[in-house]
Amino acid sequence: MSNRIQLNTTYTNHHNIHVGYQLENEVNEYLAANFGLKKAVFIVDENVLELYRKTFIKEISSLFDEPIFCSVPEGEQSKSLSQFTNITDKILEAKVERQTPVIVIGGGVTGDLGGYVASSVLRGMPLIHIPTTLLAMVDSSIGGKTGVNHSVGKNLIGAFYEPKAVFSDLKFLETLPQKEIINGLGEVIKYGMIQDESIFLSLESLSLSGKFTYSKEWEQLVTNCAKIKSDIVSKDFKESGVREILNFGHTFAHVIERVRGYENSSHGEAVYMGMWGAVKLSNLLGFNIDITNLSDFRALYTSSFEPLETEEELANLMLHDKKVKDGSIRFIILEEAGQARSEVVKDISLIKESWKYIIQEFK
Ligand code: ADP
Ligand code: ZN
Repeated sequence: MSNRIQLNTTYTNHHNIHVGYQLENEVNEYLAANFGLKKAVFIVDENVLELYRKTFIKEISSLFDEPIFCSVPEGEQSKSLSQFTNITDKILEAKVERQTPVIVIGGGVTGDLGGYVASSVLRGMPLIHIPTTLLAMVDSSIGGKTGVNHSVGKNLIGAFYEPKAVFSDLKFLETLPQKEIINGLGEVIKYGMIQDESIFLSLESLSLSGKFTYSKEWEQLVTNCAKIKSDIVSKDFKESGVREILNFGHTFAHVIERVRGYENSSHGEAVYMGMWGAVKLSNLLGFNIDITNLSDFRALYTSSFEPLETEEELANLMLHDKKVKDGSIRFIILEEAGQARSEVVKDISLIKESWKYIIQEFK
């Protein structure tokens, strides 16, 4: 039996997030209890489909008379309108109905794309998320953000659309490449920074370098992170207030990703680097935040950030972010460990200095 977190939003329905190990029976029971077992759409990351077609995916799809499989090629370029069209063509031609469940199995890329398909085909089909990366389990499968990228920018087309249920089965992490575990850890560390220092204690007891092996401690950690995210989201589904604190480190990270190219950079790593900037900025604003909680993980993040741009240019790039109003930038800063809030920073020299700190640390 999994750990269950109920996500209550005033926005739409409540739903459960299940976190556990080897959940195929639980998923089957849920599907059998909630859907007719004729058709179902499976939108699956190509690597996950290959690895699990004879096990997990076979078990849950054999419940249905007519499973429809859509494979999503790996990589950020799949979050596109052309992939969206491929999938919608396929499922509409299969004559799906409004009650047909859409079961999305994969990391953040597949989840965002598949979620958006579910949100819009026939004006919304029931969505079930089965995240298979650490990042998707602790972050992107929770909170209803779905969408694709546009040549003008990332995530510019999409919808807020809540799933009916999320099943995070840690079994999937056993095949996830180590660098993707480290990627997901960026967001885990973020929860420690903005909300719950006990995350760092949990992390201490886990072996983070080397292959993932399942343990109750890992399950508890993923459960705690999912709970933190769902608590924040339930207070502010459409990101008009408290949900903003989830962007800790992200104002810097988005620029790092843009400068490196999205294909070459891992989001979690960019967030990790970005949090160094956010801690520095908090210090410059007069809050005494210790860097140790971050620096303890420094050895896991091995790639360097050598921008062609100076700190001046990087600070200027930030001014083009969508969150900028009237030339002053909104940052999430820490007032103390676990206490985050947003702050409008007008003094550009503080931002430059924070960039300088990131560049020096990661050169
Ligand atoms: P994120 O969740 O960080 O956004 P992606 O959706 O881009 O990540 O997935 C990262 C990579 O991991 C992709 O190459 C994807 O095919 C692969 N992948 C996802 N889940 C698994 C898994 N459980 N086992 C092995 N590879 C996986
Ligand atoms: Zn993020």
